[in-house]
Amino acid sequence: QTDLSRSAALYERALKVLPGGVSRNAILRASHPTYVECGRGCRVTDLEGVTRIDFSNNMASLIHGHACPEIIHAVTEQMTRGTAFMMGTEIEVRYAEHLCSRNRSFEKMRFMNSGTEAIMVALKAARAFTGRPKIAKAEGAYHGVYDYAEVSQGSTPATWGGIDHPRSVPLVHGTPESALKDVVVFPFNDTERTLAILDEHAKDLACVLIDLMPHRVGLCPADVEFVTALRQWSARHGVLLVFDEVITFRAEHSGLQARYGVTPDMTALGKIIGGGFPIGAVAGRAEVMDVLNPQSPRYVFPHSGTFTANPISMTAGMAAMLKFDQPAVARLNALTDRARNGIEGAIRATGAPASVTGAGSMFLVHMKQTPPRNYRDAYPTPDESRRLKALLDHLYNEGCSIISTGACVFSTPMTEAEIDTLVGAFKSGFAKLASMG
Ligand code: PMP
Repeated sequence: QTDLSRSAALYERALKVLPGGVSRNAILRASHPTYVECGRGCRVTDLEGVTRIDFSNNMASLIHGHACPEIIHAVTEQMTRGTAFMMGTEIEVRYAEHLCSRNRSFEKMRFMNSGTEAIMVALKAARAFTGRPKIAKAEGAYHGVYDYAEVSQGSTPATWGGIDHPRSVPLVHGTPESALKDVVVFPFNDTERTLAILDEHAKDLACVLIDLMPHRVGLCPADVEFVTALRQWSARHGVLLVFDEVITFRAEHSGLQARYGVTPDMTALGKIIGGGFPIGAVAGRAEVMDVLNPQSPRYVFPHSGTFTANPISMTAGMAAMLKFDQPAVARLNALTDRARNGIEGAIRATGAPASVTGAGSMFLVHMKQTPPRNYRDAYPTPDESRRLKALLDHLYNEGCSIISTGACVFSTPMTEAEIDTLVGAFKSGFAKLASMG
């Protein structure tokens, strides 16, 4: 056993008590996960003592990287006064006021503990408000693990069916047929086909759920024309429009929706608004949110959760979001543009068959010449997957940790130095791939 690295030894123990040795599949790597010693700013050090720049930021959930001093200070102070109460806290009110002040469509909001829960609550609120059973979502889009939200998330060429009617493909074996029947799947960024599909279910639809830049669909921003058409169609049919901004809220001070001039009925939030702690939230039109309000005649959705709005997540979130002000958003987006331009330059210089999609403080490098616009375009071929894996391994060995899809996520502690390291690692990676053939 002595020849095992500390991470390999830990994984052997993990395999005995955790299915697959992990609590989330995303940490798996060949031949074992890397275990963390500590993280600070934009760097993480593993148990072997190797330090890498972290371009994953816990799947886009950390806007200030690791161990942010302002968050540590605020949370430490709150911890000495208690972490969870069967009473309200001032910080939950102040934090709701702050988030509502960032976006005019956030008239009322409610907190929960994960993005999954936020999507679940938004979908249930839409059903409760409209009295209708169905939801519509884009093919391939990831919205967490609620039965309805995860339909089609794992569609493959063998299962996805014709593009005019993408199939409701279950992710998990055993998903009830009834859940599949109540999810209408449409092709992202394809207005004509999407509206034709929605028309078929107009009377039964509670909401259209859309992520404006869905990661698993290829991190391609939705066209303004597509989103505008969804808004007009849903308003015409009494169907609610729900934005999943669990990831994309980081793109602008008030979320990626700021770039669309379209007002949703509800927005699901999560990730960065927790300041590194578990969180989810649903914000939206007061009339719709009143389905959750026991004092309202509209009240039809009893909702609760033991750790909702716990003062730790509220305090950390408040500190994180106050620090992520307009200048911080602009600076981070400019830094990300610098990285993206650098990588596009490296693609041109090496002639690599690759392209970049994304917006705000995130982008995704595809091993495809043409940037994809929807899930089927973005779906990697076996050869593309092989080349991406080789590129990821190269980046990792060069000290850059990115997400396994090829996505890179930026955090405020980063500077031009880290960006230039990333661009250099991509460039040598593309050159290496070319020489491998
Ligand atoms: N929606 C989107 C767009 C997400 O990316 C995620 C998480 N990756 C979720 C919802 C679910 O969030 P959580 O993991 O906090 O449940």
